[in-house]
Amino acid sequence: MSVVVEAVDLRKYFPVPRSIIDVLLHRPREYVRAVDGVSFKIYEGETLALIGESGCGKTTTGRLLLRLEEPTSGRIVFMGRDITRLKPRELRPLRREMQMIFQDPYASLNPRMRIGDQIAHPLLIHKLATPREAREKALEMLKRVGLTPPHEFYERYPHQLSGGQRQRVVIARAMILKPRFVVADEPVSMIDVSMRASILDLLESFRREYRLSMLFITHDISIGRIVSDRIAVMYLGRIVEMGPTEEVIRNPKHPYTRALIDAVPSIARRKRGKKLRIKGEVPDPRSPPPGCRFHPRCPFATEICRGEEPDLVEVGRDHYVRCFHLLGK
Ligand code: SF4
Repeated sequence: MSVVVEAVDLRKYFPVPRSIIDVLLHRPREYVRAVDGVSFKIYEGETLALIGESGCGKTTTGRLLLRLEEPTSGRIVFMGRDITRLKPRELRPLRREMQMIFQDPYASLNPRMRIGDQIAHPLLIHKLATPREAREKALEMLKRVGLTPPHEFYERYPHQLSGGQRQRVVIARAMILKPRFVVADEPVSMIDVSMRASILDLLESFRREYRLSMLFITHDISIGRIVSDRIAVMYLGRIVEMGPTEEVIRNPKHPYTRALIDAVPSIARRKRGKKLRIKGEVPDPRSPPPGCRFHPRCPFATEICRGEEPDLVEVGRDHYVRCFHLLGK
């Protein structure tokens, strides 16, 4: 299988605004280390679920891959080409191959534009169709995503649709360009529970039809399990565990992954033994703890964890973990 997108030691540090007092006292500038040395590959037709608590750097990672954020360092390789430093003009032809589906479908739609025109718009921007052809294709796409009758939906505006219908429009707008790679950022978290399965089914049908590669960002490991081939768990800007989905779910090796799994009743119910609970909040990303970043919350932390940071090492076939004391050993 060919690699569609690769992140190589990707970092993004956001400068923290300084007060006048900070400037007068010559205090050093601080940075939020949102993404701090992340590497992974996504293969053709594969979905990688990126999982973690809010603020762990998931969304920034997705935005970096699409060059919606400039990386502080590291590389992004798309279809074999290093796109890290491409200029906007050079990136433009690649934009149609890489799309993003946002968490809030309402915020990502233009409230003053008809639904059908919003779906047709990317075809016109990329000069892939005449206005007439773009309209026809938008009507087909409306039907494809289940917004029927399509002529009626074409004329509507975002405020006239439900949350689930709006997310179908966002998916239709992304898919009309037949992209190779999509970042789906919590695409069902703001949608009624009753509609979530059908939206996930819709994404899955596009994935199969277009052999789409996807980074699926979610805080919910049970959703990540349904949609993905592999899972990567992020904590404070770093990947702490990554591997084939069922292997990670059934045999987590990092305490943080295990705690995420134990917090989901539908998965945890089937497992025996004491559930692993973690306490406290994610530490301030401006000054991550020394050693293992998870050590202040980890029930298994020892002296070495407080002084040294573990590397991400392969512990099984394609299964990587960043921990000195692997679970189940
Ligand atoms: Fe816990 Fe130590 Fe493993 Fe970090 S390295 S997760 S502190 S056991």
